[in-house]
This record gives sequence, structure tokens and C-alpha cells, in this order.
Amino acid sequence: MHWTASAMSDRGRVRPGNEDAFRARPDLGIFLVADGMGGHAAGEVASTVAADVVEQGVETALAAHQDGPALDAAIVDVIREADRAIRTRASREVDKAGMGTTLTVAVAAPSGEHVVVAHVGDSRAYRLRDGTLHRITTDHTWVQEQIGRGLLTPEQARSHPSASVITRALGVGGTPLQVDLHREPLRRGDVFLLCSDGLTTVLDDDEILAILTADTTWDTAAERLVEAANSRGGPDNITVVVARAKA
Ligand code: CA
Repeated sequence: MHWTASAMSDRGRVRPGNEDAFRARPDLGIFLVADGMGGHAAGEVASTVAADVVEQGVETALAAHQDGPALDAAIVDVIREADRAIRTRASREVDKAGMGTTLTVAVAAPSGEHVVVAHVGDSRAYRLRDGTLHRITTDHTWVQEQIGRGLLTPEQARSHPSASVITRALGVGGTPLQVDLHREPLRRGDVFLLCSDGLTTVLDDDEILAILTADTTWDTAAERLVEAANSRGGPDNITVVVARAKA
């Protein structure tokens, strides 16, 4: 399977810096988004450490031709390694204490049969196929837990004062870190969108779908997603990675 990718990351209109990180490696079939948190630029450090460790670790696993359950386990292992790396850095540098990051990664299995999606936190992965947008990940957030219990609707959750409270992140969660893993069967022409919550707190899934399916290039679609979030005030950093399994 051949991959192409379009990616964009933007500070938004409110935050002083950009604490998101992403990697788009169509040559390897590795795509990820990390959304860092913590003061004094610590969030930026956490998301960059996560992106570096996971990209490198997954690349090594793929180079060793790991697939199936071995690849799944390797991906969980590298995410836990990134978690430890962030904790170690935070324990050595006082201004980095408490830093953390989300991490959502999509890895094309060498068999070409599926994509492994692993995530911690509220950065999302979607799959677009036949004009339908399917959300692969479930946010690790307090409001998502309330939705699961039937106590909030998705619409109420988006505007809830606690909408940004995440229940799991690298650097600040329990040990061992719990990682959600999905195997998504792959078809030629599938499009995967990874994004930080700076996109999804201001755009709903139907609005994202409309932009992705507009008659334009994928690079333009990525730009338009960011522009749409900024037109809603751009309250947070916005990162999108659009990866296509070439038809
Ligand atoms: Ca964010």
C-alpha cells in the first residue's frame, strides 16, 4: 500500500505558542498527533518527546518486520517508553514538572491488511470511506465518560466547562499507562484524519466531513480544516494529519 499525507499545525488565535506536535511519514506508514500540556513551554517538550520516541520506536518495529500481535505490542511498548521518557525529563527539570501529552498514532501494518490506531487522551483518529466519516477513537475525557453513562449528550459535552478535562495522558497517568488499541481493516482509498482537540472542540463531525469531501486537493482540505477552526475563534492549537491509502 502506498501512502500520501497532508498535515498542518497552527497556533490558533488565542494561545501564545503551539504545544501540538505531529509526524507524517507516508514512506513508512506512520502518522501521529500529540497535544502537550504544562506551563513554561513544557507542553511543547512533552509532545515533542512523545512524537520522537514513538516515531523512532515504531520505525524500528516496522524495520524488524513486526506485524499482527507483535506489532500491536510493540506500539504499546513504545508509547509506554515515551511516557517514561516524559516522566524522567519532568523529574529532572523543575519547570517541566507535571507536563504531559496526548498521543494518537496510526501505523500501517506491513501486511497491508489493516492500520493499527493507538491512543491516549483526546486527540482523535477518524477514517473516511465511501463518503462516511467513522470516529475510531473514544476520547479519554471526563465529558466522554458522562456521555457513556447517558448523563450528557455529545452536543452538551462540547460546550461543557469541563470539556477539556482529560482522564489519561502520557507523563501524568497511572503506571503502566493504559493504551487503547484498534485494528482498522484497510481498503485502498481509505483516508485517515488524526487531529488535536483544537479542531474537534469547535467543529462537529458533520462539518469535518463536509470539508474533507469538498471537491479540492487534500492539502487544501487540511488548510480549510485549520481555517474553519480559526474562524470559530481558534481557542486552542489546531493540528491535522490527513493520510491516504492510495487508490
Ligand atoms: Ca489542545
